[in-house]
Amino acid sequence: QAHLDRIVAVDGDLHAFLHVNAHALDVAADIDRRRAAGEELGPIAGVPLAIKDVLVTTDMPSTSGSKILEGYLSPYDATVVARSRAAGLVPLGKTNMDEFAMGSSTEHSAYGPTRNPWDRERIPGGSGGGSAAAVAAFEAPLALGSDTGGSIRQPAHVTGTVGMKPTYGGVSRYGAIALASSLDQVGPVTRTVLDAGLLHDVIAGHDPHDATSLTDSWPSFADAAREGATGQVLKGLKVGVIRELADSGFQAGVASSFRDALSAMAAQGAEIVEVSAPHFEYGVAAYYLILPAEASSNLAKFDSVRFGMRVTPHAAATVEEVMAATRDAGFGDEVKRRIILGTYALSAGYYDAYYGSAQKVRTLIQGDFDAAFAQVDVIATPSAPTTAFRFGEKIDDPLQMYLNDVTTIPANLAGVPGISIPSGLAAEDGLPVGIQFLAPAREDARLYRVGAALE
Ligand code: GLN
Repeated sequence: QAHLDRIVAVDGDLHAFLHVNAHALDVAADIDRRRAAGEELGPIAGVPLAIKDVLVTTDMPSTSGSKILEGYLSPYDATVVARSRAAGLVPLGKTNMDEFAMGSSTEHSAYGPTRNPWDRERIPGGSGGGSAAAVAAFEAPLALGSDTGGSIRQPAHVTGTVGMKPTYGGVSRYGAIALASSLDQVGPVTRTVLDAGLLHDVIAGHDPHDATSLTDSWPSFADAAREGATGQVLKGLKVGVIRELADSGFQAGVASSFRDALSAMAAQGAEIVEVSAPHFEYGVAAYYLILPAEASSNLAKFDSVRFGMRVTPHAAATVEEVMAATRDAGFGDEVKRRIILGTYALSAGYYDAYYGSAQKVRTLIQGDFDAAFAQVDVIATPSAPTTAFRFGEKIDDPLQMYLNDVTTIPANLAGVPGISIPSGLAAEDGLPVGIQFLAPAREDARLYRVGAALE
């Protein structure tokens, strides 16, 4: 009830939610009944959960921030949603996002942007700005996000929250409306590292419905966070700092917060080691070929026949005319831009030059990570180059928007886990800054230990 009250009080202005669950209190009452009847419920049963609208749900619409899916009801729950329900979490509602998770500001949502609770003239990050703003504004204690190129970590960075992108394959993508299938991962957005671990424990693990789901059994991430909170893990921990990222144009307050966090870690016994990742500078370019290529294929299913909106331009319209009119009306500009980029990059005669080259860069970046992790336990970077920017600042300049992803994209290209945790406020604007830690694939627990130690 407290969270629903808070949503009523602030969400008219923030617009973190696209839909609020009318049955949340009934679900909560049912959990209370089960607990009273002596049923053993998990450690976070009864806790409200905000769900990014990219995740399909049977009882609430799932639009992925797009007009083309307005009012769409899924016949099944995403696996992460089903697991959350089974663990007794109470779905609070669906959160706003850039259309089909394309963007870094929520300004590309077809339903209007979300405001950053720290400064309502500024963006809450993207694409999962709704989830991060909901958590930062105390509308929800926990949220689910998806991260294809930073959409969990960058919103966490600009809202002073914790965002974790698991190892690729560690959390099921079944029922996460696909953006780029080789990059997408679902993960938690919370206020503390322990909260993220508790939610990650609920959603992790093999899912036969997702062909790329790992069969690993995962350690408890909540336990890893508790272990990390003792601070002991920093002693002798080798923390890599990437030389080539130094001139990525970090805002002064972001750079100094990062240096302070490293000094704090060193004071507790961590060893800061400079490592080289010579191909990181090509990450953004490779990502913005691979992502549109995969997205253009994934979005082909929005054909006016199988899902959502249908626009019939005139009575005798052909299938092609209906499809074109529907996509013209249903997709926003950024989605159209990426479909065009993707189909171009995949077309005969250009495939090797663009898509093929980008895949080679991806392999080289994976090699950079392998070489770095042979020397260090974790890599640390600022989570993003700047604090929350103002609405309108980058929206007309897609390249500037894309360059904002320089620090988050490499983890998706390599499939490794990454966490962003708050590292203070920038001196010049008083806005939140995050520090990102990256670990080798499957070492998600290490990020919870290190993150909790620094928190
Ligand atoms: N800013 C990235 C993009 O626009 C983030 C995408 C994501 O993680 N969903 O592609």
